[in-house]
Amino acid sequence: MKKAKALVLLSGGLDSILATKLLLEQKLKIEALVFKSYFFDSGQAEVSAKKLGVKLRITDFSEKHFEIVKNPEYGYGKNMNPCIDCHILMLKGAKEIMAKRGFDFIATGEVLGERPMSQNRQAMALIEKQSGLKGYLLRPLSAKLLEPTIAEEKGLVDRSRLLAIRGRSRKEQMALAKKWKINWFPAPAGGCLLTDIQFSKKLKDLIKNAPCPDINDMRLLKIGRHFWHEGREIIIGRDHQENLRLRELAGKKDILLEIKECAGPTALVRGHKREIKGAALQKAKRLVKFYAPKAKGLEEISFNVLSPES
Ligand code: SF4
Repeated sequence: MKKAKALVLLSGGLDSILATKLLLEQKLKIEALVFKSYFFDSGQAEVSAKKLGVKLRITDFSEKHFEIVKNPEYGYGKNMNPCIDCHILMLKGAKEIMAKRGFDFIATGEVLGERPMSQNRQAMALIEKQSGLKGYLLRPLSAKLLEPTIAEEKGLVDRSRLLAIRGRSRKEQMALAKKWKINWFPAPAGGCLLTDIQFSKKLKDLIKNAPCPDINDMRLLKIGRHFWHEGREIIIGRDHQENLRLRELAGKKDILLEIKECAGPTALVRGHKREIKGAALQKAKRLVKFYAPKAKGLEEISFNVLSPES
């Protein structure tokens, strides 16, 4: 019988590693696929693919992904994570590769009942349907709790060697990791910034004030303390590295502020197509002063105001 060819979505988290390993144990032909965006990268998947000895395809879908982050059809999870839309988008991408490259099915590390938003029975069925993968989406870790896929029915995959893991405990996954000596996986859900409460708050403010942010805006979101004044963004560096990074990321229309008399944070003020007026600059100066311990005892403080345009 021909060896089945599976494309596995490998984020590099433990569940996706185990799903890949389970299929490798059946001597199937496996390739892995990871997506990267403004909010997560492919680093952990690259490590895992190497350790597992599988070829990894990396797809950057930042722009399409950002569209669903701004406007998710199925809403957000606890923070700014649109997990159902995100899964659908990834699986649609996987489906295109499946059709082009002749894979028999797609597999993921999803576990029934592990994540409240996207891994309940209803959401998993919805994801399968909306991605156009009905019958072609195998979840090896929970397969025995779900309808058999076409690959299982055709005997391309031995269903009896798949698992019936359910729920959030991860006990069974940890036992498998121990058995297979897998110790390179990260903490659960550690890789996606959209699940981080602080980052989500900053992103929400940005989307509200600047509906068309670009990659540079995204990079800035990852550093500094963020404040707003009537649609103008003020970012205060938290250490020397961030101060340098703010200088690097400053655009032509931004303004950089630093105290002249002593060391302190750098502020970047971005107008997002609005003129940077006096009140926003005054607020930025107050914030720089507040976060500069060395400025506390000084009576007079003046600022270097740098405009990268000039
Ligand atoms: S946690 Fe992030 S990467 Fe994972 S499905 Fe949700 S939005 Fe997508």
